[in-house]
Amino acid sequence: MEKETAATATAAERVCRRCKTKYSPSGNTAQSCRFHPSFFVCRRHDDQKRYYELKDGDPPYAARFYDCCGAEDPDVAGCATGFHLSYDDPE
Ligand SMILES: [Zn+2]
Ligand SMILES: [Zn+2]
Repeated sequence: MEKETAATATAAERVCRRCKTKYSPSGNTAQSCRFHPSFFVCRRHDDQKRYYELKDGDPPYAARFYDCCGAEDPDVAGCATGFHLSYDDPE
C-alpha cells in the first residue's frame, strides 16, 4: 500500500506522541522533549493554598490543572523533560 511507502519516506522525521512535535531521531536527547507526565485534570487541588483558589460561585471543577505540577494553563510548557517518544517506540 502507499501508506507504507509514505511511512518509509518520512522515517527520518518522527512525531513525538507526548509533545506532538516533529523531531529527528538523531537529535533526540534526554532534554529534547518537554511534557507533563500526568493528565490535565478538572477537580479541586489537593493543596488549595498553592493553586487556584475557588471564588464565590465557582463550581468545584473550575480548578483545572496538570496533576503533575499544578500548572493551570493547558498550553504551558511541560514540567518534565526526556527523550521524544515516537508512535513506533515501545512504551
Ligand atoms: Zn516530545
Ligand atoms: Zn506538569
